[in-house]
Amino acid sequence: MIIAYRPPDEIKRLEALYALNILDTPREERFDRITRLAARLFDVPIVLITLLDRDRQWFKACYGASFTETSRDVSFCSHAILGEGLLVIEDARTDERFFDNPLVTGEPFIQFYAGCPLLSSDGSKVGILCLIDSHSRKFSQADQTALEDLAKLVEKEMLTNDLARTIKLARENEQRTLVLFDELASQRELTTNLFQQCAVAVVAINLEHKVIVWNKATEELTGYGAAEMLGTSNQWKAFFGYERPTLGDLLVDEAYDKVPLYYKNYVQGSNLAANAVHAEGWFDNMNGRRRYLKFDTSPVYNKYNKLVAAITTLQDATQQKQTDAQLQQQRDFGLQVMTTMGQGLIVTNTGGSFDYVNPVFAELAGFAPSELEGRQVLDTIFENEYDNIRTMWRRLLMGEKVNYETLLKRADGSGLDVLVTAVPRYQDGQIIGTISVITDLTERKRIERLKNEFISTVSHELRTPLTSIRGSLGLVIGGVAGELSPTALSMVEIAQKNSERLGRLINDILDIEKIESGKMQFNLKPRELLPLLQQTIEVNQGYAEQYKVIFKLEPAAPGLKSLVDSDRLTQVVTNLLSNAAKFSQAGDSVIIKLTENKSFVRLSVSDQGAGIAEDFQQHIFQKFAQADSSSTRQQGGTGLGLSISKAIVEHMHGQIGFDTVVGAGTTFWVDLPRYYEDVGEAPINHLDPSSPRILVCEDNYDINKLLCLILEETGLQIDSAYRVSEARELLNKYGSRYVAMTLDLLLPDQDGISFMREIRQNPVIANLPVIVVSAKAGAGKVEIKGSAVSVVDWINKPIDQTRLLAAVAQTYHRNADNLSKPSILHLEDDLDIVRVVATILQDVAQVISAKDLQQARQHLASQNFDLILVDLELPDGNGLDILGSLHQQDRCSPPVVVFSANEISLDTAQKVSAALIKSRTSNQELVATIRALIMPGSPVPVPAGVVPERTENA
Ligand code: ADP
Repeated sequence: MIIAYRPPDEIKRLEALYALNILDTPREERFDRITRLAARLFDVPIVLITLLDRDRQWFKACYGASFTETSRDVSFCSHAILGEGLLVIEDARTDERFFDNPLVTGEPFIQFYAGCPLLSSDGSKVGILCLIDSHSRKFSQADQTALEDLAKLVEKEMLTNDLARTIKLARENEQRTLVLFDELASQRELTTNLFQQCAVAVVAINLEHKVIVWNKATEELTGYGAAEMLGTSNQWKAFFGYERPTLGDLLVDEAYDKVPLYYKNYVQGSNLAANAVHAEGWFDNMNGRRRYLKFDTSPVYNKYNKLVAAITTLQDATQQKQTDAQLQQQRDFGLQVMTTMGQGLIVTNTGGSFDYVNPVFAELAGFAPSELEGRQVLDTIFENEYDNIRTMWRRLLMGEKVNYETLLKRADGSGLDVLVTAVPRYQDGQIIGTISVITDLTERKRIERLKNEFISTVSHELRTPLTSIRGSLGLVIGGVAGELSPTALSMVEIAQKNSERLGRLINDILDIEKIESGKMQFNLKPRELLPLLQQTIEVNQGYAEQYKVIFKLEPAAPGLKSLVDSDRLTQVVTNLLSNAAKFSQAGDSVIIKLTENKSFVRLSVSDQGAGIAEDFQQHIFQKFAQADSSSTRQQGGTGLGLSISKAIVEHMHGQIGFDTVVGAGTTFWVDLPRYYEDVGEAPINHLDPSSPRILVCEDNYDINKLLCLILEETGLQIDSAYRVSEARELLNKYGSRYVAMTLDLLLPDQDGISFMREIRQNPVIANLPVIVVSAKAGAGKVEIKGSAVSVVDWINKPIDQTRLLAAVAQTYHRNADNLSKPSILHLEDDLDIVRVVATILQDVAQVISAKDLQQARQHLASQNFDLILVDLELPDGNGLDILGSLHQQDRCSPPVVVFSANEISLDTAQKVSAALIKSRTSNQELVATIRALIMPGSPVPVPAGVVPERTENA
């Protein structure tokens, strides 16, 4: 089989065929009629009108066969269109083109074929009219002519068809066009409406730069109506005061390169890939207002990708811009504040990393700001501060504001004192970090130091002369300078009273300064309150007398204790007592009570005075608060006492308050937490190494116990020794604390007489009164006759109890005749004070002064002293340096009393027996304190100033 090739005009032929619009149309009688006629005429079983499509032959009419199309490859007709005129195959079986054609070898077993081409109006062979028979046969010239005629008929029908279809199509097209026009019109309307109703201002221009869209929003925005703009090239008028290309103008001219040139003053961003251009800026005359507009202009292309217009949307971003500007302004302002503020600023996240640090903080920390990026707060803190900082951090993250001082770790490892004020940082109600202001405290600390130096200087400078004045006035009143006339006496008394007032004021001011700087020291110890109260009342008896009132302590349970600083508590009670006295009427009673409940002890002072006016009550604990300033002059107060008292009580974890009835009286009370001691603890008296003692030296056990029993009545602390070695050890330990010693002359390790001589050699205990209690007393008396050994009494055994007690009592009243006066070394560079103190103490001791440490050491080398009184500020050092010299000596050190203008630290207080503040100590207190230390057994006073606990070393 040979497959027919495609004719050279195949494309044209196909176009002609398609133009006929006949392919795949339904069967039509007009064509069937011709095939029926041909079958009859030529007496053939099959007649076909075939049309040759690209790959198939399709039958428009088909007589005698049922198929509608076959493949073009097997088709006889595809051969028929190649030649000129008819193709006649009389016997296909013998034709090389067809003998093995499936249509020949199989159904319909073609043997005869005659086909005449069908031509379109342009002459293209679009199909074939063919006759088919399954028998071979001859086809005459007449047959051929008849077939050609029939083919012409078919062609005519095909062309008729073509015209009708064309007309129909034209009609259809017209219809469709009308519909399209309709659609277009409605789309256009829709678009126009859309533009009109669109809230965004839209402007479009065509290629002739004529405005084709100017919607309502644009009218409102610009103030120019659509009527005025549409069809004109005037859109520039709406935006600029002069003619210039708008973005749309540039886009329809495809002049993208000119956009930056014309719009350089407008923030712009162009998406050139989409040829879209953005510009924004301020426009002054938008409907009479200044507006910030954002333009987005894009080119518009038709479906052939041809540029037809430029469309611009305009957005009024004034509000947003103003908000942005405000925000920016706030940001700028914030940034300006942060960068120019004098303090460091840190902003962190909750993890403790820096989110921001200002330059001041970076400078304080010694870093460049960039070096701190991403670092942790802990990188700028010393390790020993970590715990403290973590605590602060926890409090912050719980929403608290915190304030603390710390040491900033600088880049070079050095430290900087800073104050941190930190607050939590919030976002949407959540804590997202912290904000801290860091203040450099270097200058403040320096000023504080200067202030402290100044205060200490002033206090020293004021207290020292004041002490001289008070002391001297006291002496003058006491008659040292001879008897004064009544007028002179009253003048001097006024002077003394005022010097005392001045002293109180200075003391109060210094106390306030201490409280405020947090430097007031508290030596908290469990203390029994009743004795403390008793002593304070006794010391303040002077007040009671001065105001003619009676201090009455109500009976109270003993043993009530609290953890207090006894001197500070004394100061509080003194203030309450003096106030009660001051504000009472002569003859009134002031009732002092000590009551308890399970958790606290209440100390109260009630008067029958005028009470406290209601409007003053809330101010009473404030500094310098006085109900009536005229009462100040009258009563001589400072208005600081209660403020100091409150601070003191609160430091001791207590509370102070008052109940008052105007016209009836006031009760001030102090509640202190009760202190419970472990059961079985020794009474406090036994712990106190400063209490006066008596030493029993007796080898017989029963007699020793008996002596202790008898001596218990003295109230002294009793130590017993059974041998000389034990007695020696105790004497070395307590030295001058011993009031007396009983001594048996017959002792196992050494005889009593030689031990007595030994005692007289020891300067500390040389004057120790010895009461010999011995069966050998009489013999002993003879034995030591004429020696320097002084004995208070010789008592024979069995012991006479009364005589023994009398002998002990005698030791309290030693006089200059039987014992030499104790000696005191007074270290003081102020000669006035030296003279005043010497005069005050003239009855008590012999006072030797040293103006500096060097002179004091010389005195100490050549002489023993019973007490050393030191001023702290000496020309060649601190008075306490003398302690070093004392400890070097191989013996018990004498008590050391500080007598200075400044209060001493707790540390210093531990080292000395007592500390007195110059302006606070009255002549009597000075004498009493010293007497108590050099003459154990005399009552221990409670001075108004701070007196530290007496310690062992004295
Ligand atoms: P001062 O007594 O030195 O003025 P205080 O702080 O001790 O300072 O007292 C402040 C003021 O409180 C007194 O000036 C007085 O007005 C009032 N006040 C204190 N105690 C009493 C009291 N018991 N009765 C009436 N008023 C008192």
